[in-house]
Amino acid sequence: HLDRIAEVDESVHAFLHVDAEGALAAARAVDGALDSGAAPVSSLAGVPLALKDVLTTRGIPTTCGSRTLEGWIPPYDATVTRRLREAGLPILGKTNMDEFAMGSSTENSAFGPTRNPWDHSRVPGGSGGGSSASLAAFEAPLAIGTDTGGSIRQPGAVTGTVGVKPTYGGVSRYGLVAFSSSLDQAGPCARTVLDAALLHEVIAGYDPMDSTSINAAVPPVVAAAREGLRGDLTGIKVGVVKELGGEGYQAGVQRSFEAAVEQLRALGAEVVEVSCPNFGYALPAYYLIAPSECSSNLARFDAMRYGLRVSDDGSRSAEEVMSLTREAGFGPEVKRRIMLGTYALSSGYYDAYYGSAQKVRTLIRRDFDAAFERVDVLVSPTTPTTAFKIGERVDDPLAMYLSDICSIPSNLAGNAAMSVPSGLSDSDGLPVGLQIMAPALADDRLYRVGAAYE
Ligand code: GLN
Repeated sequence: HLDRIAEVDESVHAFLHVDAEGALAAARAVDGALDSGAAPVSSLAGVPLALKDVLTTRGIPTTCGSRTLEGWIPPYDATVTRRLREAGLPILGKTNMDEFAMGSSTENSAFGPTRNPWDHSRVPGGSGGGSSASLAAFEAPLAIGTDTGGSIRQPGAVTGTVGVKPTYGGVSRYGLVAFSSSLDQAGPCARTVLDAALLHEVIAGYDPMDSTSINAAVPPVVAAAREGLRGDLTGIKVGVVKELGGEGYQAGVQRSFEAAVEQLRALGAEVVEVSCPNFGYALPAYYLIAPSECSSNLARFDAMRYGLRVSDDGSRSAEEVMSLTREAGFGPEVKRRIMLGTYALSSGYYDAYYGSAQKVRTLIRRDFDAAFERVDVLVSPTTPTTAFKIGERVDDPLAMYLSDICSIPSNLAGNAAMSVPSGLSDSDGLPVGLQIMAPALADDRLYRVGAAYE
């Protein structure tokens, strides 16, 4: 994989940092233990992996795609990182992303975009475009992403790979640099559903270091994936979300989705249409809640504690140093979000904006609750279009935000969701994703249905 990275990453740019030495040392440690007769520490011991640059890695730079953190070497591992190391997975390096995970194309990375391995003139999705592109370019067999509004699933869809957003609280957020704490969730990216399940099992589980971590058994995702691979969905009830799809969706994406629904039926599933009337409000609610939380979370980048500090020659006040540093360190999208969030949270507007968005969030959760009384899983396209051209949406934030119209409801409700490859669009020959959604703590259903379908 290191050879493959050396061969293709100059053009793909999936990685911000490659840790060849660390990866080889971890691989040799696994070999050494096996040679001395020890049992493997996990089913993935020795399998290398690419890690999104938003998770802290002790001794390895962590930038979140931002100038603000350029050169910062964390003194501690995220819980996800620690579990990967303990399970013997060599970390190949850190993957490119939209700055602080804000975006749908990786074009908001301060270090230049990642290119889609299927077509280098197109984006690999975002914010975790680097992780998904590393899989599609065969630079890594497994990767970790994070999903606040779709950043694992949408890149998965447009690169023809698998991406899973676990139930909120299922994977520890300790050491995941916060964008929107009530939505952020790390999860597995892989080329097959079973691979994703094996990785899910390594990273998931209760962590006292994260106050929102769920203290419950990890859903049996590997067993479910194996069950799914038998290709029988008899007894499974699938709901097609009426509000996600149709007008505004690329014709090839829509046709791929309809074919996917037919295939689920052929596998034995019972398919019904389900209405989730409040899903239409998910995007506006998200773009109040996520920027509000981001404006608070990113206040910690104050030029005093981390990374970048400009105009530090003693001639300026602390306040000036802070503001000049934030001006220089943050890109335009991050600034837009901080301003939106600060405005939405300001006194007099709080109830009208943030308060209303939270109420909408409850209505969306109720839509899911009602739907899951009738069906086991819900399905939709993962994203309305295939990979778009680099540059096409950079000047149009609303068009960029629409990439996540299908993925955001699951983040707002905290339930589990997966994107699984669904063939190529007959509009343009590019990969399409099928989104599968399951209730909180029923992540195993995603794997059962996803493995049967893929
Ligand atoms: N594209 C969405 C945003 O820009 C989602 C990002 C994410 O999931 N991290 O906020």
